Amino acid sequence: MSIVTRFAPSPTGHLHIGGARTAIFCWLLARHVNGRFYLRIEDTDTLRSKQEYTDSILASMRWLGLDWDGEPVYQTKRAQLYNSYVDKLLVSGHAYWCSCTPEEVEAMREKARQNGEKPRYNGQCRERGLEAGQGRCVRLKTPLSGKVVFDDLIKGRIAVEAAELDDMVIRRADGMPTYNLAVVADDHEMGVTHVLRGDDHVSNTPRQIVIYEALGLDAPRFGHMPMILGPDRQKLSKRHGARAVIDYESDGLLPHALVNYLARLGWSHGDQELFSREELIRYFDGANLNPAAAAFDPVKLEWCNAQFMRTLPIEELAALVAPFVRESGFDNIPVERLGALCVMFRERANTLRALAVSFRPLLVPAGELVYNEKDAAKHLTDAGKRHLRALAKIFEVCGSFAANDLEKMLNTFVDHSSLSFREVAPSLRTALMGFMGGTHLSEIMAFLGREETLARLARAAS
Ligand code: GLU
Repeated sequence: MSIVTRFAPSPTGHLHIGGARTAIFCWLLARHVNGRFYLRIEDTDTLRSKQEYTDSILASMRWLGLDWDGEPVYQTKRAQLYNSYVDKLLVSGHAYWCSCTPEEVEAMREKARQNGEKPRYNGQCRERGLEAGQGRCVRLKTPLSGKVVFDDLIKGRIAVEAAELDDMVIRRADGMPTYNLAVVADDHEMGVTHVLRGDDHVSNTPRQIVIYEALGLDAPRFGHMPMILGPDRQKLSKRHGARAVIDYESDGLLPHALVNYLARLGWSHGDQELFSREELIRYFDGANLNPAAAAFDPVKLEWCNAQFMRTLPIEELAALVAPFVRESGFDNIPVERLGALCVMFRERANTLRALAVSFRPLLVPAGELVYNEKDAAKHLTDAGKRHLRALAKIFEVCGSFAANDLEKMLNTFVDHSSLSFREVAPSLRTALMGFMGGTHLSEIMAFLGREETLARLARAAS
C-alpha cells in the first residue's frame, strides 16, 4: 500500500522540537515506502496565525531537510471545500441546523455539570428540521449509542462511547467550518493514509472518525505520539531546552544531528544511536514507536551533534561553520583555510558555534591576540621569553614551515638545549594561542605561517 502522510502545523509560533519530531516521523514514514508527504498550514485561527510563523516553519522544515511534496496547502483558502462537505452532511441527514445561542448551550452544559454529567449540548435542535438562518450553526448528528473504536499505531486500541461525544458544531454561525470538519475534509482530499500527531489530539480522533463515518468515507490510520518531557520528566519548558528549531540552528547544531536525535526520542532500532539519513529512511516503518513519553536530554543532543561533526566530510563542515565564522567578524576566510581549521579543532567542539569560536585566536592578527592573564603570568616569564627568542631565531631561517618539519625542529631544539619539552611548550603555546589551549603546536604554526608566527613570538617576548 502506498503511504501518504502530512504535517499540519498551526502557524501560531515557530516550529518547536515537539512539532519537528512529528514532522520527522511523518516524513520518514512516507519516504520509507516512497510515498507522499504533504504540508498543510492550519491557519484558520486568524487572530493567532501569522505569515512570519508560516515562513519560519517552512524555513525550519527546509533546514532540517524535510522536503514535502507539492505546494503547501493553506486551510484559509479552502472554506468552499469545507462547506461542500458540510452541505453533503446536511443533505444526507447526518447534520442539522441549530439555532441555540452560545448562552443557551452554556446553560445546558451547566445543568449537566450540576447533575454530575459530562457538560454537553443536549441535542435540542436535532429533530427540529430547521432551515439555514441568521445566527444558526450546523451540528453533526453523532450516533447516540455504540462505540467508536480505532487501533492507534502507538497507543494500541482506543474505544470511546459514542454517547460521550455530543453533537459537535461543524459549521459555526459565522459560516466558518470547525477544526475537526476541516481536518477530515483535508485529510480525505489529500489522500492521507496515516495521521501521526501529538497525543494532545487524541480526543479529536473519535470525533473525526464519526465525521468520516457520516460521510461514508474510510478513515486513515492514526498514531498519537506522547509528548516530549523535560530531563526531570516534568512538562518540557523553555528552561529544559523547549526551544524553536531556529534556536538550535543559531546554536550551531547540524540539522541532521537534530533530526537523528529527535527521531530516536520515542523510536528505536535496536541499540543504534547514530543513523545516516538513508538509514533512518530505511529503518523507520512506523513500528517501535514508544507509547511512553520520552525525556529530552540536551546533553545527549549535543553529544549526537559532536559525533556528526567528527564524521562529516571536511568541505561540508567548513561550509556549515562558515556563517558562524562570518558572524564572529571574519568575513573573507578562504574555504581551504576553514577546512584546515576544522581538521585542527573539530574534535574539541560540540557545536558549529563553539567550533567557530575556537578558530578565533588563529584568525586575529598578532597584535589583537588576547592573552589569558593567568596563563600569560605563568608562562610568559623571563625564562619563557628567552625560549621564545631562541625559537624565533630558528623559525626565521628554517627552510620549510610545514607541520611535520616544524615538529622535528621543535624536537631538535629541545634535544640540543638543556630544557625539556614541557618547559618550552607552555610559553610557545601561550604566545601562539593567548592561552593554554588549542591543538598541536606544529599544526598551529603551520597554519599561521612564518610571518604571523614570528609576530606572535615577538609580541609575547617583548
Ligand atoms: N494543527 C494541529 C496542530 O498544530 C495539528 C492537527 C493534526 O495534525 O491533525 O497541533
